[in-house]
Amino acid sequence: MSVYLDHAATTPVRDVALSAFHDVALLGGNPSSLHGAGRRARRAVEDAREQVAAALGVGAAEVVLTAGGTEADNLGVKGLFGARSAEDPARTRVLASPVEHHAVLDCVTWLAEARGAEVRWLPVDRRGRVDVDGTAALLAEDPDRTALLTCMWANNEVGTVQPVHELVELSHAHGVPVHVDAVQAVGWLDGEVGSLGADTVAVSGHKLGAPVGSGVLVVRRGVELEPVVHGGGQERGVRSGTVDAPAAAALAAALSAAAAERDVEAPRVAALRDRLAAGVLALDPTAVVQGADLHAPGARLPTNLHVTFPGCEGDSLLYLFDAHDVAVSTGSACRAGVPEPSHVLDAMGVDAGLARGALRFSLGRTSTDADVDTALAVLLGVLDRARAAVARAHGLAAS
Ligand code: PLP
Repeated sequence: MSVYLDHAATTPVRDVALSAFHDVALLGGNPSSLHGAGRRARRAVEDAREQVAAALGVGAAEVVLTAGGTEADNLGVKGLFGARSAEDPARTRVLASPVEHHAVLDCVTWLAEARGAEVRWLPVDRRGRVDVDGTAALLAEDPDRTALLTCMWANNEVGTVQPVHELVELSHAHGVPVHVDAVQAVGWLDGEVGSLGADTVAVSGHKLGAPVGSGVLVVRRGVELEPVVHGGGQERGVRSGTVDAPAAAALAAALSAAAAERDVEAPRVAALRDRLAAGVLALDPTAVVQGADLHAPGARLPTNLHVTFPGCEGDSLLYLFDAHDVAVSTGSACRAGVPEPSHVLDAMGVDAGLARGALRFSLGRTSTDADVDTALAVLLGVLDRARAAVARAHGLAAS
């Protein structure tokens, strides 16, 4: 039986999303066209926008449709920086958490290299949580020259939930706008996106059960952004390109379904995750759960279990699990097929040797007790083989 424990990478498409996509795709028409077909497509887009807005607790006019989370992050981070520095060229500072997904991290480093931004990294603790007092001190240092602050709501590798409400409040007290990457949080955490009060918030469809290639950037009323994609001026002029009506309908359907079932699904999945964690630690007492405390309310995504296994290589673990048809992840990025060390674990101060044995189990709405049982049933054999491989490699290196 195949077991999928990589929902943070992408989660299976929902039937409601597929049928919404299908129905709207059959309508045809370009939402910008003035004829009947165009108007019907436009109606579908605006209906989807309203549904998305209701699920996120924001106004429909605040929803900018994108082709995914990465694009939404690019528009939020680069767009805020561009608009703020155009208003006042002295605003070159960017405050960013060092545990961001590459979709944000690489925008920030690009701004430093290509636009002369001066990046200040927010302090994070051993659990990957941004330190609020440290952030307050960084903000107070030079608020007038600070273009923006960016911090994710929940971390994709270790599941740590960030104090984003506090960060937004602090930042706004200094007149500094905030971008929040909510890609992993939406659908799982309590509290609506609207309640964050952030200036821009990125959401991705395929993490919620829509097909890959749909996303949203929530842009609070009155917030100016420099466009990243130029063209026909769609989506308030900040995201040109023919609006993808079927994708918008699918995203709206998936997001509404996720929001409707969250109160039931979040505790159900957290209980499965906790049973998996207890089983892993019982089978391998040397294993270490990284990230926020599993049992501290609201501290961690209910879907996430991140473990480091001493004496193992995460990639070997992944392939050995895969040989049993159990899909897991190391959690960190992989560029052109080459695994990279995790910048998240590094920022948390996890020993580099230990970080090599990282494995992320991420659960979702299709996860079952049987999935947990299967993963635990194969774990010991997987660990033995992974450790034997490391021992062999050391033996070879010594001989
Ligand atoms: N931000 C976070 C926290 C993510 O986990 C991901 C995807 O893994 C993204 C952004 C990128 O989203 P997308 O895959 O829709 O481009």
